[in-house]
Amino acid sequence: MIVILQPDVTEQQIDHILGKAKEIGLRTNVSRGTERTVIGFIGPEDVLRSIPLEVWPGVEQVIPVLAPYKLVSREFREENSVIKVGDVEVGGKRLVIMAGPCSIENKESLLRTARTLKKNEGVSLILRGGAFKPRTSPYDFQGMGEEGLKILKEVSAETGIPSVSEVMDPRDVELSAKYIDAFQIGARNMQNFSLLKEVGKTQKPILLKRGMSATVKDLLMSAEYIMAKGNFNVMLCERGIRTFETATRNTFDINAIPVIKQLSHLPVIADPSHGTGRWGLVGSVARAAVAAGCDGLMIEVHEKPEEALSDGPQSLTLENFASLFKELKAVAKAVGKDI
Ligand code: PEP
Ligand code: MN
Repeated sequence: MIVILQPDVTEQQIDHILGKAKEIGLRTNVSRGTERTVIGFIGPEDVLRSIPLEVWPGVEQVIPVLAPYKLVSREFREENSVIKVGDVEVGGKRLVIMAGPCSIENKESLLRTARTLKKNEGVSLILRGGAFKPRTSPYDFQGMGEEGLKILKEVSAETGIPSVSEVMDPRDVELSAKYIDAFQIGARNMQNFSLLKEVGKTQKPILLKRGMSATVKDLLMSAEYIMAKGNFNVMLCERGIRTFETATRNTFDINAIPVIKQLSHLPVIADPSHGTGRWGLVGSVARAAVAAGCDGLMIEVHEKPEEALSDGPQSLTLENFASLFKELKAVAKAVGKDI
């Protein structure tokens, strides 16, 4: 249930409403906009339906949210949410690029990569790099762990580019938070509900990647887990799903972009690197994703993809990234985005 408060509602009235909701056993989420304050009431449908919210002092309108995801839905918030990662805005007019190697490997390489990426004129950039890697085989490189996060923080500080990195374990949330600007929840952990609740307790932005066998609804429900804990800084990521098709690593679901934009106010990031698994296809799918209305892209790049410790086959060289970025500018412009 969404309760829109009157423009002249007083703090006293808000406190009264929140107190009454608590008494009944309902959870609330207060969202203070520039013009209106909106309260989301969360609880059993029958309880919600039985309270005459319309007559509570300060209440202007009550809107039932029919979707099972409440805080995530467009019904809850009509305008697009803009999430700040460092000083980069995700979900606004500008297309955002999250780029960097799949794994952090050493400081020199990450620093050179970050500096080269920054040279792309007009790029609104977030630096990605994994320190905790979810690998299919336990014998593959598992990431540098905290050492990698330290490198990411140093490079981010030296270049002024905010960072995003995956957290896989609820026990690492506090540690990771000291080093990075945004958490990534990977596809394999999209329904790790303990992890979702843990990152939901922080206020750090979260890039939530779609699970490889998850429906759009599953993804939105996972985002709801995070937001229900009080963290509204969620960005959703389409990164391809498992289908019967074997020509590519995953099948990038282009439909998901406009579908999510319709259903939710949260920003949508497209990841054509994991979506295809092949560097030669990344450009085409990246252009398509921008045309379909995504708010940003996550693209894996590497100085020398053939030497990358993970995901080399899908990583762009820095030169290839630079030419793709020029093309993306034209596509972004064509669909009314700034770059
Ligand atoms: C990654 O971003 O490197 C990654 C492991 O992504 P995903 O969780 O989408 O597979
Ligand atoms: Mn990767």
